[in-house]
Amino acid sequence: MTALQFDHVTKRFGKVVALDDVSLEIADHEILALVGPSGCGKSTLLRSIAGIHPVDGGTIRLGDRVVDDGRVQLPPERRRVGLVFQEHALFPHLSVADNVGFGVRDDTATARSYEMLELVGMTDYAERFPHELSGGERQRVALARALAPRPELMLLDEPFASLDTNLRARVRDDVVEILRSTRTPAVFVTHDQHDALAVGDRIAVLRGGRVVQVGTPVEVFHRPVDRFVASFMGEASYVPFADAADVSGLADDLGDPAAVAPAADRALMLRPDDIVLEPGDGAVVEHAEFRGTVWCYTVLLANGARVKSLRNHLEPVEVGTRVRAVLRPGHHPVIVDG
Ligand code: ADP
Ligand code: MG
Repeated sequence: MTALQFDHVTKRFGKVVALDDVSLEIADHEILALVGPSGCGKSTLLRSIAGIHPVDGGTIRLGDRVVDDGRVQLPPERRRVGLVFQEHALFPHLSVADNVGFGVRDDTATARSYEMLELVGMTDYAERFPHELSGGERQRVALARALAPRPELMLLDEPFASLDTNLRARVRDDVVEILRSTRTPAVFVTHDQHDALAVGDRIAVLRGGRVVQVGTPVEVFHRPVDRFVASFMGEASYVPFADAADVSGLADDLGDPAAVAPAADRALMLRPDDIVLEPGDGAVVEHAEFRGTVWCYTVLLANGARVKSLRNHLEPVEVGTRVRAVLRPGHHPVIVDG
């Protein structure tokens, strides 16, 4: 069973094509992280699922129901999706318990509300009002409220963007655990690659309204389809093929570069953890950035290309030191468009 299916979905706002022929599936119980830069269509995709606006082409299915195909357009309240947004839209004049029970339209509302508050660890706050809660607490309540009517799919649109870094990782992990324990499939929108890598069973990368890659976090991080995905998912250096010999072991790993990449404009993507620095010659440490647990060195290769290299903080190297850049055994460069 699939929880959600997008089949060639297009959505326009005037001349802007916000979703451009998007096809995508989410399996039951799966959490899909949807990432991409601002304006790429993430919120439009969620709103299309929720039924906040109709799409202009294609079909959206939730479970085995068509919810939008241009003819059928199920209203939002009949789609059985839960929504959590960045700006936690709790009702200010309702208590926490009443907020959570709000979407349950029968006499189980109170019981269900307390059940959900227990799930998110907010039972003690049931009688409070939204303005008496911290940002993280409000997001837990928003989650409880979205879960109370037993949605078939949860949609989260940058739900933690307003929380500070430490709190955010904790609330994020709690939310993911709750989604998993209730076996609720979810689309989790974020513009943060760390969030995406941490929460997604799979990641879909969106660019200009198009899905450019869908895969597990490991696939998307280590085998990006292009340079855009490579850069978006994490820090990387790009070494032109012509300079491959400047990194020790790189040319060996590639075999014959000419055979691998006939096009001269292609490059090798190297993550900072791909490169080790050894005593030697041929490269020089140009810059050192302290990151707490590690140093990140920028190393200038003989041909003028630069790579980055992470190194434990206990083994610092001075800027200006001559070194040899070595491909770490087991790491393989990815070939991308130059
Ligand atoms: P994201 O959530 O990835 O930042 P959005 O889905 O909000 O991106 O927007 C995608 C594109 O569609 C942008 O170019 C945005 O300006 C446009 N857009 C979104 N909503 C509307 C709207 N209601 N009216 C006009 N243009 C819109
Ligand atoms: Mg958005």
